[in-house]
Amino acid sequence: VTDFPRDAGRVVIVGGGLAGYSAATSLRSRGHTGSITVIDEEPGLYDRPPLSKVLFSDGLSIESLAFAPPAQLDESHIDVVTDHRVTAIDPDAASVTLDDGTVLPADTILIATGGRARRLAIPGGDLPLVHVLRSYSDAMGLRAAVAPGSRVVVIGAGLIGAELASSLVGVGAVVTLVDPAAVPIVPAVGQLMASYLHDMHTTHAVRVITGMPTAIEESASGAEVVLANGDRIGADVVVVGVGIVPNTELAEDAGLDVDNGIVVDSRQRTSASRVFAAGDVARRRSEDGELERREEHWEGAQLSGQAAAAGMLGLEPEARGAAWFWSDRHGVHLEAVGRLTGDGSVIVRGGGSHPTVFLVNEGIVVGAASIDDNNTVRAARRLIDQKVPVSEAELGDPSVSLRGLLRASR
Ligand SMILES: Cc1cc2nc3c(=O)[nH]c(=O)nc-3n(C[C@H](O)[C@H](O)[C@H](O)COP(=O)(O)OP(=O)(O)OC[C@H]3O[C@@H](n4cnc5c(N)ncnc54)[C@H](O)[C@@H]3O)c2cc1C
Repeated sequence: VTDFPRDAGRVVIVGGGLAGYSAATSLRSRGHTGSITVIDEEPGLYDRPPLSKVLFSDGLSIESLAFAPPAQLDESHIDVVTDHRVTAIDPDAASVTLDDGTVLPADTILIATGGRARRLAIPGGDLPLVHVLRSYSDAMGLRAAVAPGSRVVVIGAGLIGAELASSLVGVGAVVTLVDPAAVPIVPAVGQLMASYLHDMHTTHAVRVITGMPTAIEESASGAEVVLANGDRIGADVVVVGVGIVPNTELAEDAGLDVDNGIVVDSRQRTSASRVFAAGDVARRRSEDGELERREEHWEGAQLSGQAAAAGMLGLEPEARGAAWFWSDRHGVHLEAVGRLTGDGSVIVRGGGSHPTVFLVNEGIVVGAASIDDNNTVRAARRLIDQKVPVSEAELGDPSVSLRGLLRASR
């Protein structure tokens, strides 16, 4: 049991992605005066979402993606060690060992190691022409491999696969998108919105195939992706976007509680008292003891990094609302909040260029998704978090202002 509030002392943060970076800056803004060291095996601390959206744009560099210029981190007395991998943490001594043997003493450790792209465990899944996209170096490798006219097979039509298909078509590649599900991302946005989004691929010159890849074989002209039904798709480049594997090894080796993610409480505390975890690698156990899904979205990483900072200082983190994310493809901007599958009725609000969908359960909105309509999702988010009673007729009527419903509830 930790005493609250507490002095976090020397903080070492393993992983300088969004969660690690947010924790570091949040510690400073909350008044932490002890040392903060962020260690990352990559060459810089940078933001990932542009990698799939503007992969082929001029001027994309690790500097252009940086969360902050180095001078700003210096000013905040945040020490950054890049190009070094942490090979072990000792939760009892609270020390961190780097790949060159250096042992950094710490009073508090944050594990924010994110995830790595899942590879396809099929024959040929590790051929050199098979790419994944998680890091800046993955992005540069893919960018160098693709030219106008390249035949690119994207395996996995989830959020990253769809964004990539869109970027690849934009640069003149001939894109085939393969997924075993006829309509992917239903769990994230519900059936109706998922179908609407998936159909956009075909109208934007992406060839869409429902099928299960079973092998990738080299051929005279590159490779062929073999599907379970025997079909073969010719490819110069293959990109696999089938999710991530959380980087939990450091935590496992240190004996922390891990279950498809490092198990944490609402203050991002792990099973070791001086070790916290945040971001894509962490999995929260809710107050009622249930293990939640890992979020794997930008805002969740930011908020959990901030919550970890609060937790390290023994402060109560701000209450978390419904999870939110965005995604961009084929020139449109998707936003979604809360849950769009499971118990409840689906309400569609028309009237705009694209549908907006809500899931309503027992008179309360529990989820919303929209395209090019951020205001609606922003308002829906407040309806969800404040559990404002709504009628399905009002929600479905585009002339009824959601902000009006919010105001009326006060
Ligand atoms: C291409 C792409 C597009 C995305 N687009 C969106 C989007 O549109 N909307 C959205 O909501 N989310 C999006 N996301 C998801 C979002 O970027 C992630 O949720 C977020 O990056 C998670 O942050 P993190 O800090 O937990 O992990 P990461 O960003 O994975 O950072 C972890 C860091 O830890 C480092 N590390 C790991 N192990 C070690 C070690 N042993 N030693 C030292 N360093 C280590 C890694 O090098 C990495 O820099 C996207 C992700 C990707 C990859």
